[in-house]
Amino acid sequence: MVARYDILRELGLLPLWRLRAVSAEAGEKRNACTSSAAEATARYDAVAPERSREPPVDRVQHIATLKWAEFAADVTACTACGLCRTRNKAVPGVGDVHAQWLFVGEAPGAEEDAKGEPFVGQAGRLLDNMLAALGMKRGENVYIANVLKCRPPGNRTPSPLEVESCRPYLDRQIALIRPTLIVALGKSAATTLLNVDATIASLRGRVHRYQGVPLIVTYHPAYLLRNLPDKAKAWEDLCLARATIRGSQAANRSTGLQIAPRVPN
Ligand code: URA
Repeated sequence: MVARYDILRELGLLPLWRLRAVSAEAGEKRNACTSSAAEATARYDAVAPERSREPPVDRVQHIATLKWAEFAADVTACTACGLCRTRNKAVPGVGDVHAQWLFVGEAPGAEEDAKGEPFVGQAGRLLDNMLAALGMKRGENVYIANVLKCRPPGNRTPSPLEVESCRPYLDRQIALIRPTLIVALGKSAATTLLNVDATIASLRGRVHRYQGVPLIVTYHPAYLLRNLPDKAKAWEDLCLARATIRGSQAANRSTGLQIAPRVPN
């Protein structure tokens, strides 16, 4: 049987997907992040009682009409959940607003919270390498967003209330971008977008739809950093994503369907 290592080497993924060594300095930085995360958790718990109601309709309507020029400022000013009190920077999203590919992660981590940009930490470097393996790069025909726009203290799993509060922003991004394909990175993104409670393993390997847009589920890059053998499965998912996007383009060509020129958002 061919070993996974050999498959990855055959796919030309090894130099691209290899983990970088963690320097002593980075290790220290990570520890520093952990302790400030504990402080942030305490701050969050102290000030953020969970509210149990759906986002007010007027807020949802307001977000559903935002234009790109207003979008980031609106996210930055958002106080709909307790995360506004513990974030350093909101992380609205980054990339080509006319992208065919939309990648959706869970929520910003410490580095994203400091920078205001999604996937800039170690998981982000792996995501960049996954894009490179597809011959793509961040910002070119690719948009990257998260389910949550603010960091949960200590990188804990987003609460249902936080997801519910933030969801109108993701919905608006999808409506503005009109991607040809969505790639859900990890369980939070997949279950939020598909509105199901299921494992990644059960959702991988087929084409789902989010409001008519094809959606592929794959592992979160942070998971892949801890579970190296599953990178081969993630590569299969990306190949399915690429085949799906190519299939959509070919179908549009054969039906003579023209993609409508985009109006400025
Ligand atoms: N993990 C995510 O899901 N999103 C980020 O932006 C960073 C790490």
